Amino acid sequence: MQEDESDLTGTTPRRRPKNAVREVGGRRLQPATLMMGHGFDPALSEGSLKPPIFLTSTFVFENAAAGKRFFEGVTGKRPGGAEGLVYSRFNGPNQEILEDRLSLWEDAEDALTFSSGMSAIATLLLTFVQPGDVIVHSGPLYAATETLIGRVLGRFGVQWLDFPAGAEQAQIEEVLGRAKAMGRVPLIYLESPANPTNALVDVEAVAAARAAVFGDERPPIAIDNTFLGPLWAKPLEQGADLSIYSLTKYAGGHSDLVAGGVVGAKALLDPIRMMRNTIGTITDPNTAWMLLRSLETLELRMTRAGENAAKVCAFLRDHPKVESVGYLGFLQDGGDARQADIYRRHCTGAGSTFSLYLKGGEKEAFAFLDSLKIAHLAVSLGGTETLASAPAAMTHLSVPEARKQALGITDNLVRISIGVEDPDDLIADFAQALDSIR
Ligand SMILES: *Cc1c(COP(=O)(O)O)cnc(C)c1O
Repeated sequence: MQEDESDLTGTTPRRRPKNAVREVGGRRLQPATLMMGHGFDPALSEGSLKPPIFLTSTFVFENAAAGKRFFEGVTGKRPGGAEGLVYSRFNGPNQEILEDRLSLWEDAEDALTFSSGMSAIATLLLTFVQPGDVIVHSGPLYAATETLIGRVLGRFGVQWLDFPAGAEQAQIEEVLGRAKAMGRVPLIYLESPANPTNALVDVEAVAAARAAVFGDERPPIAIDNTFLGPLWAKPLEQGADLSIYSLTKYAGGHSDLVAGGVVGAKALLDPIRMMRNTIGTITDPNTAWMLLRSLETLELRMTRAGENAAKVCAFLRDHPKVESVGYLGFLQDGGDARQADIYRRHCTGAGSTFSLYLKGGEKEAFAFLDSLKIAHLAVSLGGTETLASAPAAMTHLSVPEARKQALGITDNLVRISIGVEDPDDLIADFAQALDSIR
């Protein structure tokens, strides 16, 4: 067992894992390697190779002074969070290992995990906004995020302005300037690529616009990186301050859990952690453990899904029953030069979620969906299995008709998330489903 090193106040500092090896022979280890051991010391858990699931609501203090010191961290009297484990609404071993590992993918200082993607977003927004503030965001956003900003926070006097996801710096500056004239801008909130348009946000342009409008008084830039992160997009490198995840999707990757995460600089995560401590939106230990298992195969799964999607989209693109395929991997082949430029600067892969526009309307889309034999008819994305759904009739059913048209959410749109199956089996399935459309 590791020896406790008592400090001068007689309290026990957090027992940090011994095997925090980040470098071998001068070589910096990659996340895919570190997912198997980083943040966990078997010696602290009876030699168990894998972390046990710590099912406890509370943790025993070694002495009263240690309890006091830990609470100073929990309550923010000292920055950086608790130095030891206190109570499972605040932290726990599984969550801490998960957060240590999650932060590695974007080379971030710190990470926090949550009970869902939406509870991550809600906790973040509650941390930064106050009545009279004007949130500036890219549009469109995930529907629940739009509801949260527009309808829920709206009830507390928070306003918002948006710019279209693909906007250029001048347009973003204009919107930021208008927002600044209306009230305090607590944060700039982005989502890229936008769902279901797949429009990419130019994070570098947003950062430049922020500098032009706000100078040194910079509101943080937060971005929902669920669709391409953490493998294909690392927006902290382009100037975002906080990267947000629905870990339910690619990070969890098996369609068997719901969770969320935020990664970024400690100074911004500390107040979010305080809010999470207050309202209790942390991940549970069991889900955190499942996510540790998921992260071990994250690069394998995402790489395979990305390769599969490229093959499937190449097949779909030329099919006579297909009108068009909205797939980021096709941006380089001409078309929207501005989007292609953002893709080149921001993305290392096209992901595995795309829009398939069939010739026809709802009848054709439903015939296609009902004929699929491998792909499952379900919403969500980023799992090992391929999913397909009709946004106009499902996720975006309640969106007003004019806005649906503006966003390209037409009746012939099928959203597809490709999994890790055999690519030729998937192509065979899509081929027979297209053939079944009359
Ligand atoms: C799914 C999703 C969310 C919400 O995440 P939950 O884990 O379902 O709460 C937020 N943003 C995007 C882009 C998503 O796809």
